[in-house]
Amino acid sequence: MDLGLRNKVAIVTGSSQGIGKGIVNILKQEGVNVIGFDIKEPTYDIDFFKVDVSKKDQVINGINYVISKYGKIDILVNNAGIESYGAVHEVDEYEWDRIMNINVKGVFLMSKYTIPHMLKQGKGVIINIASVQSLAVQKRVAAYGTSKHAVLGLTRSIAVDYAPVIRAVAVCPGSIRTPLLEWAAEQEVGKEHIEDKIKEWGAMYPMQRVGNPEEIGYLVAFLSSDLASFINGTCITIDGGLTTLIPISSPKNR
Ligand code: NAP
Repeated sequence: MDLGLRNKVAIVTGSSQGIGKGIVNILKQEGVNVIGFDIKEPTYDIDFFKVDVSKKDQVINGINYVISKYGKIDILVNNAGIESYGAVHEVDEYEWDRIMNINVKGVFLMSKYTIPHMLKQGKGVIINIASVQSLAVQKRVAAYGTSKHAVLGLTRSIAVDYAPVIRAVAVCPGSIRTPLLEWAAEQEVGKEHIEDKIKEWGAMYPMQRVGNPEEIGYLVAFLSSDLASFINGTCITIDGGLTTLIPISSPKNR
């Protein structure tokens, strides 16, 4: 199916690895001109601009680069995000601010400086990579979970403030195999047991596995296209059924 994305211009943040890289790959397959923003240099072929999404000046510089080179921004994918663990009393203030600055303020800044260009163009789509932890939380993710709930709130605000010109949609993934997920597994069980841990997490999913970055990429490509023209202000969960499952066993019929 042709999504009609050829020659569109998209910014993807957090593009150098993981979900961001998966999104870039699929958008490129669809003929989109993709510009990656990340704090880390990419190790693959992409038009790249170094941007820390939590830094206003860097965000403005990056967006100016895109506008001067391509003249428009059709799609913004706010994907850059970091994770940390801890219940409220365990989270120090520095860590709280770091999570909020990247996961929430980063989405705000990127959107704030992209939206005027989309309004001028008369069209645009903003896709925010939130999480299943925007809808419910696992234990000891106070800062991360709060930040991902906020991303959903921000998505809804953008959706109602700028429709019908701009659509905003959140994507809520479950566990996706990325360097971030591997890091999380390592924190729990050490480097040598990463594979076992990811397999164990996967077994908790009705699909019996974790997801992969390209699966998020396909959803983002669809949401970016005019085929999704009535999808606005909502979140699309992509979690292999995780949040559908009530993890309680059922007795046999008597
Ligand atoms: P990842 O493997 O850590 O990749 C994220 C990329 O973003 C990295 O290249 C990272 O650089 C970069 N980055 C970090 N801080 C940045 C900043 N301030 N400005 C620009 N780039 C920055 O993460 P991922 O697993 O692909 O996750 C991507 C997004 O999906 C995040 O928002 C995450 O919360 C969300 N998500 C992930 C999962 C999952 O299971 N993987 C599930 C639900 C939601 P460094 O490596 O140098 O930090």
